[in-house]
Parts: sequence; C-alpha cells; structure tokens
Amino acid sequence: EELPADDVTDNHVRQVFEAAYSYVNPKVPKQPKLLHVSPEMIEAVGLNLEDANSKQFLEVFSGTSVYQNTKPYAMAYAGHQFGVWAGQLGDGRAINLFEVWQNNKRWAFQLKGAGRTPYSRQGDGLAVLRSSVREYLCSEAMYHLGVPTTRALCLIESGEDVLRDMLYNGNAEYEKGAIVCRVAPSFLRFGNFELFAARQDYDNLKKLTDYTIKYFYPHLGQPSKVVYIQFFQEVTQRTLKMIIDWQRVGFVHGVMNTDNMSILGLTIDYGPYGWLEGFEYNWTPNTTDAENKRYRYGNQPNTALWNLLQLANALYPLVEETAPFEKILNQYKIDFEVDYLNMMRSKIGLVQQLETDADLIARLEALLLKHETDMTIFFRKLCSYQKGKISEGFDLIKEAFYDDDNFPETLKMTWLKWIEDYNERLQMEPAGNVQRSETMKRVNPKYVLRNYMAQLAIDDANKGNYHMIDELFQLLKKPYDEQPENTKWFAKRPEWARHKVGCSM
Ligand code: AMP
Ligand code: MG
Ligand code: MG
Repeated sequence: EELPADDVTDNHVRQVFEAAYSYVNPKVPKQPKLLHVSPEMIEAVGLNLEDANSKQFLEVFSGTSVYQNTKPYAMAYAGHQFGVWAGQLGDGRAINLFEVWQNNKRWAFQLKGAGRTPYSRQGDGLAVLRSSVREYLCSEAMYHLGVPTTRALCLIESGEDVLRDMLYNGNAEYEKGAIVCRVAPSFLRFGNFELFAARQDYDNLKKLTDYTIKYFYPHLGQPSKVVYIQFFQEVTQRTLKMIIDWQRVGFVHGVMNTDNMSILGLTIDYGPYGWLEGFEYNWTPNTTDAENKRYRYGNQPNTALWNLLQLANALYPLVEETAPFEKILNQYKIDFEVDYLNMMRSKIGLVQQLETDADLIARLEALLLKHETDMTIFFRKLCSYQKGKISEGFDLIKEAFYDDDNFPETLKMTWLKWIEDYNERLQMEPAGNVQRSETMKRVNPKYVLRNYMAQLAIDDANKGNYHMIDELFQLLKKPYDEQPENTKWFAKRPEWARHKVGCSM
C-alpha cells in the first residue's frame, strides 16, 4: 500500500497536498569525499568496509547517482515550532534514498544536506561540515550510550561552499558543505500526522497511521479505534523512555519542535543540541531560544508531554474520543515521576526503593545547582565512593566543581552533610563498594560529546584534518569504559569554551 506520492518530480518549492512525500533527486555534489563511516552501522545494514570504500558507495551516499530501481523522496510534514503552529514544513534538506531489510530489521537511508526539495521553503537544502560532524558524531555516540536514536552511516564532504549566517557574529560566511547519511527504521515524525490532521485530510491520516502500525508497531494488530489508542500509548511510553535517557546523560536536544519528534521514540534531528557541563535545569544550547528557554534541560519532560498532546490532537479524528488520550497523557506525568526517580536512584547507586530517596535526590540536585558542578564528572566520580569515607568522598566529587577558587566554605558543610546521609542510605543496599561502582558506571558515562570537543574536531576538519573526527568517534563508542589512555577527554570544559555552542543550520 503505497502512500500517495506527489506526482511532480521536480524540486521546486511548493505546498504539497494529499501526499506523504514527493519524489526528488539529490543534488549532484561538486567533489564528494568520504570522511568517515560507522563500522557498526555498515555491518548492521549488511555491508562491509570494502563496500564502504567502493566508488559506488561514495556515489550513492553523496547523491551523485541514484541506486538502481529506487526513487528518492522527501517527506511532507508539518509541526509546531516553539509552541506555534508552523504549517507545512517537510524534509527541506533531507532526502530518503531507499530502505533495506537486514537481520529482521528495517532501515531507511536518508541523506541530510543533499539539496533542495519541494519543502525547502527559503533554505538551500544543504548542510555545512560543522553541523554534519555534530550530527554524525552525536547520533552514533547516543547509540553507544544506549539512548534511542537515529543512526549515521557515513559523513561525506560535498566539495561545495555553503553560505551561512553565523548567528554569533552576525556575518554570513562560506563554510564547507557536507552530507550525512542517516539511518533509522523510519523517519516519521509527529509532524507527519499533524499535517494531514490540520488539513482535515482524514483519509491520508488513516493511511499513514495504519502504515505506521503495520510496519513499526505490528504487534498491535489490525487497526481499530482501540489499536489507535494503544499506538498512541506506546509512542508515549517510548518518548518518555527517551526523555529519561536524555536527562540521565545530560543531553539537551535544543529544538524539540513536533517536527523533530520521532514516531518511534528516537532522538532525531541533531541541530543545536548540547551536553550539560555544569548541572543546570535552565541551560539550553540553542541561542535562538535564549530568552524563553523553552527547550532548556529541565523542561524537556514537559515539552515532550506538550508535543504528545499535539500528536493526540492529530490522531483524535481517528478515535473521536478525548478521554483515552487524556488518560494516557496523565499517566505520562505519573510515570515520569516514578521513572525519573528510579533513574536518579540508579545514578547514585541505589537499587532498593525507599520513600526517603526522593528527598535525598532533591537535596543532591539542589546542591548541584548551588555552585557550577560538572554533571558528567560528578556522577562518574561518585561511582568510586567508598562507604564510610565521608571526607574522601568530598575530595572525589570536588573535582567536578568549576571555579574552585570561589567555592564557598559553607557549601562544603552542606555537601558533607549530604554525603553523610548518602553514606547512611548506602547501608540499606546489599551491594558492596565494588559491585555498586560497576553498576553505577553503566548508567553514568565517563565520556560524552562535550560541546567544545565537537568544535575542536570541526575546526580541524575545516582545515582539512579529519583525524579528530575518528578519535572522538572511537572514544564515544565506549562511553562507560574507563579508557585510561583517553582521560584528557574526562575533564572539565576549558574556560575558553564556556557557553560556546555550535548552531543548527
Ligand atoms: P530544524 O529546525 O532543523 O528541524 O528545521 C526545521 C525545518 O526547516 C525542517 O523542515 C527542515 O527540513 C528545514 N530546513 C532546515 N535547514 C534547511 C536548509 N538549509 N534548507 C532547506 N530546509 C531547511
Ligand atoms: Mg527538523
Ligand atoms: Mg535540523
């Protein structure tokens, strides 16, 4: 059951009605050059490294040639951006090539930055090396962290110069162009459903939903009103799981518009994302959101809920009852409280569930907010806490404090009190120091893609040196391992990198 395709095969920008996608061919890049491939992804889709080094691979995944018997297409979707209805958006710079079925898994391949589509609006359909390196490294890093995510197959330089407004200096500059091949079972977003709902095109809304259930939620069975509700419930549960993982590792997406929410509960669209350095609810990496901070770290769980509400509105015409949707959305709030608490328990090594844990964790978070404290280093250091060693415990975690010279002495007292209570709480846990430490190290990564790390790799790449892309790629494959040879990346952000972020376009 083909979804209706737009019958125009040119790429001119337009509104596209009664279609889920439009056929488009990628732009042929000037001088494509393969910069990196993900060996894990290559293998997962049934290729090998020899294939990856072939001329055909470069041609197909740079958009130079279209693979035989396939018809690339861009998807139509709409969305709420920063809380405001934005109408038709669509893949403005993403083109789906084809899908493969491998080891009982379905993979769709999508080029990002391969030229204009009917949905490009005023954009050029291209991506710069900077944003491509960021997406490439981060999506694979998230996978290795165990966070549901779209993947990346390869990173290719296009040989084109791309003009970008540099938001932070107000000038337009040429940057190297690049193309990332992203991979996921499907790239469908909440916004695909919103598009048809907003146009009251309920036939296509139903076709799209039935298609999604058939291929991606097949265990739900034949579509019916009940199944649509179950579908929404499962999307909600998957989204919640993803958000809890983001909070756990300190990932801030930065643009949680409904068009950037995967219907499979995957992290999708790596734009102006960032990683918490100092633990800070209010932090957002997105400079265009600096005023309202809608997509700040601490607001991600609420935003996901708001986005789910938009999805519920979009699916409503298929069910025509509000109560079941409301019930699921209310359950999200209840589940979030429980799951978040359990996740935080796991971060501090608590397996037993005591009522007083919520207070212990709330006090910890309050302390982390008092003086800038590196989230990743703090939790990783805490993994080595030895029962009974209160003041040594403080010496461990103080390595996570920024601006040590101005660390208030009174705060040390509060920390010692917390460690004392934590120490007492650990007495209720069956695990000893060694076992607790090992368990904690599987949820508290030692290495994440700090904003400045990606920036260093980008600066080098822009000068033609791609070594650091591979260095970071290898490092982030084992984020939970000690990797003693790589401890230079287990360090607080250098002062020059404070509040510097990459931007999305
Ligand atoms: P984003 O904020 O990256 O999720 O993008 C929002 C919308 O703008 C999506 O529909 C994108 O496809 C589109 N878009 C972003 N950058 C470009 C670009 N350079 N050219 C065309 N469309 C773009
Ligand atoms: Mg997007
Ligand atoms: Mg984007």
